[in-house]
Amino acid sequence: MDKKEFKKKFKRRLAEKFAMEVTDASSNELYQTLGSLMTSAYSQDWRETWKDYRENNQKQSYYFSIEFLPGKMLKSNLLNMGWLELVEEGLDELGIQLNDLVEIEPDMALGNGGLGRLASCFMDSIASCGLPGNGNGIRYEYGLFKQRFVDNYQVELPDEWLQKGNLWEVRKESKAVDVQIGGNVYLKPDQYGKLSPVYEGGSKLRAVPYDTGMVGYQNKIVNTMRLWSLEIPPEEEDRYRSIEARRSFEDLTSVLYPDDSNEAGRKMRLTQEYFFVSAGVQSILRYFKSLNQPMDEINQYAAIHINDTHPAMCVAEFMRLLVDEEQMSWERAWDLTRKVMSYTNHTIMAEALEKWSIDMMKNVCPRIYQIIEEIDRRFVEELIGVQDFDLIQRTRIIQDGQVHMAHLAIIGSHSTNGVAKLHSDLLKSVVLHDFYLLYPDRFNNKTNGIAMRRWVQLANPAMSKVLDATIGKTWRKNSDDLRLLLNYEEDDQVLNALAEAKYQNKRSLAAYIKSHCGIEVSPEAIFDVQIKRLHAYKRQLLNLLHIIKLYLDLKENPELPIEPRVFIFGAKAAPSYHYAKSIIKVINEVASLINADETIKGKLKLVFLENYNVSLAERIIPAADVSEQISLASKEASGTSNMKLMLNGAVTIATLDGANVEIRDAVGDDNIAIFGLTEGEVYQYYEKRNYHAIDLYERDTTIQKVVNALIDGTIPNITKEGQEIFDSLIKYNDEFFVLRDFEDYCAAQMSVNQAYQDTRRWRQISLRNTANAGRFSSDRTVQQYADDIWQIEPLFAHNDNRGVTQHDTYLL
Ligand SMILES: *Cc1c(COP(=O)(O)O)cnc(C)c1O
Repeated sequence: MDKKEFKKKFKRRLAEKFAMEVTDASSNELYQTLGSLMTSAYSQDWRETWKDYRENNQKQSYYFSIEFLPGKMLKSNLLNMGWLELVEEGLDELGIQLNDLVEIEPDMALGNGGLGRLASCFMDSIASCGLPGNGNGIRYEYGLFKQRFVDNYQVELPDEWLQKGNLWEVRKESKAVDVQIGGNVYLKPDQYGKLSPVYEGGSKLRAVPYDTGMVGYQNKIVNTMRLWSLEIPPEEEDRYRSIEARRSFEDLTSVLYPDDSNEAGRKMRLTQEYFFVSAGVQSILRYFKSLNQPMDEINQYAAIHINDTHPAMCVAEFMRLLVDEEQMSWERAWDLTRKVMSYTNHTIMAEALEKWSIDMMKNVCPRIYQIIEEIDRRFVEELIGVQDFDLIQRTRIIQDGQVHMAHLAIIGSHSTNGVAKLHSDLLKSVVLHDFYLLYPDRFNNKTNGIAMRRWVQLANPAMSKVLDATIGKTWRKNSDDLRLLLNYEEDDQVLNALAEAKYQNKRSLAAYIKSHCGIEVSPEAIFDVQIKRLHAYKRQLLNLLHIIKLYLDLKENPELPIEPRVFIFGAKAAPSYHYAKSIIKVINEVASLINADETIKGKLKLVFLENYNVSLAERIIPAADVSEQISLASKEASGTSNMKLMLNGAVTIATLDGANVEIRDAVGDDNIAIFGLTEGEVYQYYEKRNYHAIDLYERDTTIQKVVNALIDGTIPNITKEGQEIFDSLIKYNDEFFVLRDFEDYCAAQMSVNQAYQDTRRWRQISLRNTANAGRFSSDRTVQQYADDIWQIEPLFAHNDNRGVTQHDTYLL
């Protein structure tokens, strides 16, 4: 396709759809027109990908995740289709700015943070690697809340992302399935004496799938992300005549739970979990049966992945379908289930380990509960007398009136992986140690990754251009080729070009900050970024205390030789997470204080950008000089913003936590600022119970000065919140060792300040960060899942019957 043809088709489609000329059309109409050209161009390949999988009896993986966080899809689809440049230029010639159309698309925010974003990076990578893999999740009516600041407090507004429709999805009514919720179940012998379940009462939910094409990077592969929407089945209409009844029914899957780390423990959440699990597993079995292959071989056709424990009921639902519906013996079904299932653990924090009360589970999905009971009974029966009695008690699925979802996922699958080396080691040695003793072969590591296409090619076109000119374009397909950049670490022209790209990105972020917050920041200053959910363990507070220290130091000595710095935060707090919201309030108040204080001559600025989401991340990350990855060691499973930021040339200041350890290994100690307790030292404190925050406070006058600023009126309008945070540190003994790491953190910050003053050295460090980021591509991650866990292969690994070439693009 050439530009001329594109312009012609675009004008024709606009005329067909809206009976309009370009000059009359609104941005929304232009956006709809472009989207419709795109979906009709890739839908043939979507159908063909689907057909090829079927005709080749291709084994497929199904990634079950209660969250997906794709952000906007317009540019990413254009890039992957090979259309981006052509469309940008073609539109420009029609007097249309592509970026104006991008603004129309709402962020698809059906996730809270890292977990959902990982699932979406995987969707991009699975398709881009040509792997047969699908997503399975929930089509929430409302995505993650929109965050506003009112009087420096967080306020949550609903995210009505579907209001103007969704271009990319296709409703597939004919693929709907019913899900049974509630009621009673008992087992009754049939004429042959086999027990079958009899259901009484309860209700039927209709699950209707909405499919979204996952377009691979210039390879003509289009996979499917299937999101289930809840509807009232026609035969149940009578029960939902009243508006109230209808509303409470529809509410079941209408909102995403806005907490990323605390289990809600609510009946609605459990219903959501069973709803998308049952619908997804049923549709997999329906497809498999249409292939007419022996049921015993289903593990050669399907791999089901349980992303965190929310879909752990896949284990029991698969058993239910094989045993109850397909009349398979328990033993055969169990063998197949474990071969089909695999599980990723994402956290080691106790409050995030999901458990459901027996009563609630009996209430929501009684048959599933019976099956879990039987799995648990057999688990004990098999091990009793063979294994240590206490170990069996600790690893049971059902204990103390609760169903432990991680136990179900581990026992019912063949693979359990962590998401970074350190995390996977901690699973084996501490958190899941008992299971490791039982099943050492099931444990493995898959370090997280990020979709390089979105996080460099789209987010950072300025740097991408420099990379193309310096090392050629192969890095766009193979991220390991970023290493070629190391050949240029002494090349001033390249160092300057990269710095110029960074400067451009900083200027445009500065303009965004000016227009959205009214704060003037200089692009000459260090842009120091901490963007992630607001959580005590992520320690935004440590960052804040350092900022307060710098401020107080500058007040004392305005000539203090520090580089001007702009501290940038982006973070949402769960609406019910009181402490996290207090931190937001205090950061905002400190910002108001500092930004208005002319005596510090603009040396410090503090900006908290509202409504952190994928699109905002794409703006901030290319402009970052410093990446804050300062969680308490052992708490962050992996992190992925650490990867996005290093890729874009930011220098990391980090604890040895999650994937930071591997980033350090990748760049070497001279190109990262490491500080703080190690995970071993943290565990020592837990064991010896000998951490006393108050001693640090009483001994260290700097800590005293900074912490007192929270309660002595230095910072206005935080009487309550300042006291609350002060108490968390002093009275409640500083659960996340903020004060313990403070001095070391300040020293690391000082070394960052010094490194920045040596411009050439700083630019070299930045280059080395980008050059060594290739290993954190999610293409690498999903390839490892495909090889080691799912045993799936690319569609045309053996034959190339569709004649696809590596750089194929789409015809109109
Ligand atoms: C990458 C990303 C995250 C994850 O950030 P971490 O620092 O790894 O917790 C969260 N939210 C959004 C919008 C992201 O893009």
